[in-house]
Amino acid sequence: MTTMTTDAHVDKESNPWESQRARFDLAAQKLNLDDGLWRVLRYPNRELTVYIPVQMDDGHLEVFTGFRVQHSIARGPAKGGIRYAPDVTLDEVRALASWMTWKCAVVNIPFGGAKGGITCDPKKMSQGELERMTRRYTSAILPLIGPEQDIPAPDVYTNSQTMAWIMDTYSMTKGYAVPGVVTGKPISLGGSLGRNEATGRGVFNTIESACEHLHMPLKGATVAVQGFGNAGSISAQLLHQAGAKIIAVSDSTGCVYNRDGLNVPELMHMKALCGHVDGFPESEPILPHELLALGCDILVPAALENTIVAENAGTVRARIIAEAANGPVTPAADRILESKGAFVIPDILCNAGGVTVSYFEWVQDEQHLFWEVQDIYNRLERVMKTAFSDVLKIHVERKVPMRIAANMLGIGRVAEAVQIRGIYP
Ligand code: NAD
Repeated sequence: MTTMTTDAHVDKESNPWESQRARFDLAAQKLNLDDGLWRVLRYPNRELTVYIPVQMDDGHLEVFTGFRVQHSIARGPAKGGIRYAPDVTLDEVRALASWMTWKCAVVNIPFGGAKGGITCDPKKMSQGELERMTRRYTSAILPLIGPEQDIPAPDVYTNSQTMAWIMDTYSMTKGYAVPGVVTGKPISLGGSLGRNEATGRGVFNTIESACEHLHMPLKGATVAVQGFGNAGSISAQLLHQAGAKIIAVSDSTGCVYNRDGLNVPELMHMKALCGHVDGFPESEPILPHELLALGCDILVPAALENTIVAENAGTVRARIIAEAANGPVTPAADRILESKGAFVIPDILCNAGGVTVSYFEWVQDEQHLFWEVQDIYNRLERVMKTAFSDVLKIHVERKVPMRIAANMLGIGRVAEAVQIRGIYP
């Protein structure tokens, strides 16, 4: 079999594409996946690399590299976010696209998987530069995207404004408004109520289910949250409202700790106002590695990939690890956590609330009929709790870790779709 090139500077443990493939292979083995299907599903359907010239504010021309990878369109249009970050690589985008395929199948929504990214430093760019880069990137990936083809969404350092620029650029080429080409849009452009908090809500729903399974009361449970952005802060807020004690929180600026519990609404207010959690009153600063090693019931990694690796997994003491982020735990760290008896709610289940409400947004756009927020929350909770119990069933019956169970569920559903459709021609 041919092998694909990987980014040589990324070592094997922290290369998310390698991690994805390691888990895929394990789950495929457990499923006794046919060798041909294994080959079909192991690699993406399409990859597009684009070079994006952008006139910067000082007049000089910069050329950024962007990617759009469609891993699978077997179960429906490709679906996945767009990430802007200095360390975006093709391998990272491939891994994220594959995770989207399995994730959509785990929550049983009719989408395939895709992801996009631009290697850039958005924090150093003006709004004008970001808008020009986004529009040019959109025009470069036009052959791939569309409401029936491939539907982008926000990811790290992109937001509803980015989606509005993509929707406008795409619509200009058609001559009419096409809101269904992206999700995570502003409400005024056909965005869905509840999308902003969807990932955090889904994380919360799966933690509730895990606590129920482990007979661990959520009220009074202690929680540490790594990453206090969209996914992390909403998860923390809902856990706090349910009576859990959020004892530590971090962002890229620092970590804050209070054994008696942080005041989450006030922390969110400060983060919104000042852009950091550092220096929060009634807290003491701790180091990032200390947050991971805290004696707590629930750890929520909600920042980036590879934050729990072989080197630090042994220090983790939490009973439940709820992966709000994509790929926070490497395969080597998985084995260590497993030997310690940790209960991992894997990313493709835990953070699937975001894509689930993206699906609701797309459905609402397509039918031009919008739902009430409580309706969205209720539908989301049903989807997340059903997916959790489907994964748990495989975990218990097949005696495999939750991550492998989730992969088996997702891969099995996609394999079934490929098999029934047959291989063209
Ligand atoms: P975000 O940009 O809103 O938040 C990221 C947060 O992580 C920020 O607070 C940032 O300061 C913090 N951070 C960055 N590096 C850190 C570090 N080294 N230590 C501690 N904190 C750090 O992004 P988000 O949308 O919340 O996404 C976070 C993760 O969740 C990503 O892995 C993303 O792929 C995943 N995710 C997000 C969604 C969604 O709908 N937002 C859906 C599915 C998965």
